[in-house]
Order: sequence, then structure tokens, then C-alpha cells
Amino acid sequence: MKSTWTDKEAAETVARYTHEGVNEDLALRVYTTRLLGRNPLLVLHGGGNTSVKTTVTDLLGEDVQVLCVKGSGWDMADIEPPGLPAVRMELLLKLRSLKMLSDEDMVRFQRGALLDPSSPNPSVETLLHSFLPHKFVDHTHSAAVLALTDQCSDEPLLGEVYGDRVALVDYVKPGFDLAQTAAQVYEAHPEVEGLILRKHGIFSFGATAREAYERMVNLVTLAENYITAMGGGVFPSVELPTELSPVSEVAPIVRGLLAVRGDESMVDPVRVVLDFRASEAVLNYVTGMEVGRYAQIGVVTPDHVIRTKKNPLIVPTPEAGQGKAFREGVREMVERYVADYRAYFARHDGVRERPKKALDPMPRVVLVPGLGLFGVGSSAAAARIAADLAENTVRVITDAEAIGAYQPVDEAATFDIEYWSLEQAKLSKDAEKPLARQVVMITGGAGGIGGATARAFATHGAEVAVLDLDGGKAEEVAVGINGLGMRCDVTDGDDVRAAFDGVCEEYGGVDIVISNAGAAWQGKIGEVDDRTLRESFELNFFGHQTVAQNAVRVMLAQGTGGALLFNASKQAVNPGSSFGPYGLPKAATLFLAKQYALEYGHAGIRSNSINADRVNTGMFTDGFLEERAGAR
Ligand code: ZN
Repeated sequence: MKSTWTDKEAAETVARYTHEGVNEDLALRVYTTRLLGRNPLLVLHGGGNTSVKTTVTDLLGEDVQVLCVKGSGWDMADIEPPGLPAVRMELLLKLRSLKMLSDEDMVRFQRGALLDPSSPNPSVETLLHSFLPHKFVDHTHSAAVLALTDQCSDEPLLGEVYGDRVALVDYVKPGFDLAQTAAQVYEAHPEVEGLILRKHGIFSFGATAREAYERMVNLVTLAENYITAMGGGVFPSVELPTELSPVSEVAPIVRGLLAVRGDESMVDPVRVVLDFRASEAVLNYVTGMEVGRYAQIGVVTPDHVIRTKKNPLIVPTPEAGQGKAFREGVREMVERYVADYRAYFARHDGVRERPKKALDPMPRVVLVPGLGLFGVGSSAAAARIAADLAENTVRVITDAEAIGAYQPVDEAATFDIEYWSLEQAKLSKDAEKPLARQVVMITGGAGGIGGATARAFATHGAEVAVLDLDGGKAEEVAVGINGLGMRCDVTDGDDVRAAFDGVCEEYGGVDIVISNAGAAWQGKIGEVDDRTLRESFELNFFGHQTVAQNAVRVMLAQGTGGALLFNASKQAVNPGSSFGPYGLPKAATLFLAKQYALEYGHAGIRSNSINADRVNTGMFTDGFLEERAGAR
């Protein structure tokens, strides 16, 4: 690992922020916090934290010694000065004399010590930062360091790699006790450059931002070099069938079985979104003969548990042509996973503290031997975070097993973190939007109606795939809504199949398909040539049929119902002069919608059409939300 510090960037950052009234210490703190946060081998998704001890002037014009420490809700990669709220050092240091302090009191006290009461909550590791004497303190969950410390026997290893450069702190849950323990360890070894928090991560510190940052880089590099020297890890693989099912077929089955069916008052089950990964390292890991052992020992650092759960779900190898057996295998594994999770909860709930409310028992990571892994979440963003953490886990465990035997914190400590209110507070508690967890595909999505519909569905929380004959424009619309843009000619069966495969690979499946692509051919019906009429039927009828057939294929694989929405135009029921070539296939499409409702309604697939007259760009969402409310 190389230091990415440059004097030029540091000076520019200082110049920019001092111009805004931020002092140089805090400006440099922002600069190196971002350097750490942008390296996924050090920090992922809200993990890690940093601080600086500095002096600021309060409203009375008096100088106050403060600790500017990462606040909750901020990501180190793009932190700004308000993400490092100032806490009065004098008050924090007084806590050092206490024998014990509850988490609730600690949080309250830290909030009370904020210079600006509207700041976010200071990190749960604030006291640890404040009890160390150094001006700059950096903390990460470095993958290489975790591989070294997540070991059955890590002390000899850490001693060999670091000598006297770091001191070791035994695992203690973050908070007051860890702060006290770490401070005592440091004080017994005041010459060290950092602390290794066993089975948790690493702290480095220094007199300047650069020193603390480069000590982190150097200490992590020592771990990386050691792992490299040991030759890296490759797991012996199981024998795979000659042909595997593709991701596009596996994903809807997995996604469907991870959806939670509620009671009859619910129109839709509670669905999830998937994020697929299949790097070489991931493939080796998920296909390993012993995946059932090394993947189920526990999380690489406790704070991942809230996003990945303790263990992943491991499903059977998906052999091509054996979809039914695969589905049964996954169903069985999901049931076992849920039962195991409930047993884990029962084992630890209320052992030390008040009884807790069980969290949902579904997995957040799915390993598919031969294929790769899925991150699972309530949105594409949440699934991506789970997948990122899972890939990091693959790296740490592969390295840990290569240099020794992987052994992270025990189950009880993991439970403590998973059910710790201060950890759960890191997850967003915002109410979900009405179409969250739904994957929507819209054809003709780059046009006026299509683009507005795509945006409206995204506004209501759906993950949206925008398909259009003009792939460039589809991508433009998709970028604006964090969706997926694809070129697709709906009159080409292969194209449509490829588009559905692409959406299944991206999100795991499809729930709402808006078959909107169309064009208005014209001609007096007694005089128009057959070619015009047939061309119009290709797009305005067969296009819808091809799209709907693919939609039903994926929806049946998921087994969680779905919705088809056809743009049948007012022409389908109310012909206009010279619009026969347009209205005839649209009338057939109106019939098509009824036929799908008739034949697939029993599978929970709703089918409707909209007879749009003058362009009303909100009609699909309005109509859909009304129809969904009606179904309830
Ligand atoms: Zn930590």
C-alpha cells in the first residue's frame, strides 16, 4: 500500500477550508480522512474513524480545546468539516477517572460536550481517541491487519510482523471500557506508532496529519507484505457439473425465496434487491470444498454484522437444466438459515442485558458455489454495501486461512454488536417509499412518456431499468435516477431476452414491467399497404407480447407475483381517422393484457393497460399506485 499524500493537495485543501473559516488542523484532518476513506482495503461504508485535537474559538471569543472526531452518518471518503464535530476535551478527559459508564450515559455526555448541539453524534470510539495523547488519531478496519489478528493464535504472528512498533489491545466492545483498556495499553508502551485492536482493527497516531496517516499506511503495508510472502491462499475446489445455470436464471430463484410473505392484507411480499459479484477470488472462495467451514466462523470485524449478518447463506451448486432441484435446495437452505438465526438469537438474548427484539432472520449475503456471491438489501444501494463487505470478507478470510487458521470474535461478542443500539443506529431508519424493493423495467423509456414514467417510479423508491431503442438516451435517463440504462429493440426476441437477463444480473429479478415502446403508423384502412400494417403489429403488438412473455418467465421463477402494465393508447378503444394501423395492434394489446390477467392472475401477476390520450406523463405511476391500493 502506498501513501497517496501530496503536499500540493494538502496545501490546496488547507487553502480552500481556511477560506471558509475552518482551521488548518481540521482542514488537514479532512484531507487525510478522505485519503483513508477512499481506500477500500482500509475503510468500507462508514467503517473507521479519525480525530484531531485542536483549539477553536467559541461564541464568546474564548479559546476551547476540542476533539474533532468523526460523527455518525458520515462516510470518511467524502467527509466535510461538519462531519467531524468538535467535543470539549476538558469534559471528555474527566471521564477517564470513572470506573464505569453506560453506553446511554456516554452518548448523552458526549452530546452535552458538543460545541455545536446540532452536530451529529460523535463516534462510539470518541473516548478512545480522546484518551490517547496524540494530536492526530486514525482508525481503520484494514483487511490485511484483520487477516493477521483474526487467528486462532494471533500474538506470535503480530509479534513477528510488528515487533515493538505496535501494542496489542484484547477484544473489548467499543465504548468506555475499550477506551480505558486501549489507553492503559498505550501508556504501558508509549513509544508505539499504533495499536492493534485484536479481532477489530488498527489505530495509528502522530503529531501531524501526515505522520498518523503514513504510519497507518506503513503498518498496514507490513501486514500486506507478510501475507504476500506467505504465498497467498487458494482453496481446493469442489468438482463442478459440466454446465452451470447462468446468473440470470439463478438470481430470480434466490431473490424469490428471500422475499418474506406476509399476511393476506399485503399485496406484495417484502422483496429484496440483489447485487452479484464474481471476481476470481470470490469464485475460488465460494467453490471451495470447505466453504461450509471457513465462511461460517463469523464476521471479520464486529461492525460488519449489522450489514452482513453473522453468516452468509450457502446454496447448492446450480447445475444447468436442474432448476427445480436448485429451487428446492435453496428453499431448504433458507429455512435452515432462518431456524439457525432464531436459535442464535435465543442462545444470546437477554444473557447480559434486557431482552431484545429479534431482527429479521433473513441473510444479507448469499454464496453460490461455482457462480459467485450476492449482496442482499432493501435497495440496490444496500445490496451493494453488503456485496462490498462480502468481497472484503472473502479477501480477509482467504488471507487468514493462508497464513494460519481464521478465528474472529466469538458468537456472543458478535451478538452484542448486532443487537447494540449504538450499532443499529448506524442503519437508516427512514420510512421506506411505497415502491421500495420493486424492480421496474420500462420499454421505450427514453421518450417523453417513458422518461417521465421512469423518473416517477424512481421517485417512489423503485429500482428502475430504462430500455430504449436509443441506448444512449436510455442511459441518460438512467443516470439521472441511479438506474440501469440499456439498448433494446422490443421487436427482436434475442434483444428482449438479453435485456431481461441484464436486469436480473443487476438487481436479481423484475417485479413491474411497463411495456411502453410503440409508434403510430398511419394510413386509411381501405388503402394502406399490408407492410405498414404488419410493421405496426410487430412493434405495437408482438413487441408487447415478447416483453410480457419474458416478464412472466422471470416472475414465475421468483414466485412473488408481479405487475404488467401495457401502454394500449386510447386508439385501442376509440379509433381516430387514419390511425387504423396504430389502433388495430393496440386493440390486440388491450386484449393481450386481459389474457395475461386471466392466465397468470393466480400466480399473483396483475396485468393492466392504460389507454392514454393526450400525454399525461404521470399516468403510469398514478394508475399503478391506485391499482395497488385497490388490490389491498
Ligand atoms: Zn472500529
